[in-house]
Amino acid sequence: MIRLKNVFAAIILGAVSGMTAIAPTASAAEVNLYSYRQPFLMNPLLDAFTQQTGIKVNMVYLKKGMLERLKAEGANSPADLVLTADIGGLHNLVEAGLLQSSESNTLKHNVPGQFRHPDGLWYGLTTRARIIYAHKKRVKPGEVTTYEDLAKPHMKGRICIRSGKHVYNVSLLAWMIAAKGEAAAEAWAKGLKANLARKPQGNDRAQVKAVYTGECDVSLGNTYYMGKMMTNEKSPEQKDWAAAVNVIFPNQGDRGTHVNISGAGITKSAKNKANAVKLIEFLSNDAAQKIYAEDNFEYPVKAGVKVHPIVAGWGKFKAEETLLSNIAEHRTQATRIMDKVRFDN
Ligand code: FE
Repeated sequence: MIRLKNVFAAIILGAVSGMTAIAPTASAAEVNLYSYRQPFLMNPLLDAFTQQTGIKVNMVYLKKGMLERLKAEGANSPADLVLTADIGGLHNLVEAGLLQSSESNTLKHNVPGQFRHPDGLWYGLTTRARIIYAHKKRVKPGEVTTYEDLAKPHMKGRICIRSGKHVYNVSLLAWMIAAKGEAAAEAWAKGLKANLARKPQGNDRAQVKAVYTGECDVSLGNTYYMGKMMTNEKSPEQKDWAAAVNVIFPNQGDRGTHVNISGAGITKSAKNKANAVKLIEFLSNDAAQKIYAEDNFEYPVKAGVKVHPIVAGWGKFKAEETLLSNIAEHRTQATRIMDKVRFDN
């Protein structure tokens, strides 16, 4: 009980301040976590992990600045493990030399090859597709079926999207570069920019709201936001936003829909590496994968774990097959293109 209390204290402090200090410790029964994933999702998972293993988890929830913080802390960083909501976050940590590889048969078994780093520097835990949200009446069937359609003249002034520099959109463009080359990706970003109804702003859900209110007809967003809007009791107006749109999985006739991961990696400075591996393994097991699916409408990476019934209702879809590690390598180019086409201006 005392142990659990401490876990929650750490989580709450981390969530509030984002800057909670954790004393660097090596302990047989402890693991320290920096997380971009939110406490509402992680608390039940970490609670279950502690109950099962007796290992205490100290989680610091960060909204941003993980890389800078790990860099500044260097070898003295208390963090053993990081959790991010996008491949970009993990890739940037790899590039900065802040992660170390880990070997685990459980992880090899639970996480399919395309969702983990070839050398075990990071492991995907869930996937999410970046889909098109289209107004049920104002967008005719067949009018938008691909990402490419979003850059065509018939979509002029009809699209809302969050910042082009947001990790989700950078990953999407990086994938476009991997699939079609830099010139084609740049032309697409330019075309998309030219079709925007307003300056990029807000988060993925804010775009669906704008479709609902009539500011635009179409937006781009991650799959789980649809589930979260459809079931939002705290902000029931979001149910109306969701009810106004159809979800479209783009490019089903060719290369498939862009898929990103949330994932975990072990820091180079980890003092509790064995416990960190245990925690990633735990998060990749059936029980935890089920929580990700049920509480946050994500797609489990582990085969055989069921998605939420709402997610199942959208049907199966063809996902991109490009390796995530290849996509990650094009992120710098993607950011450069977003700047070049002045996407956010
Ligand atoms: Fe998100």
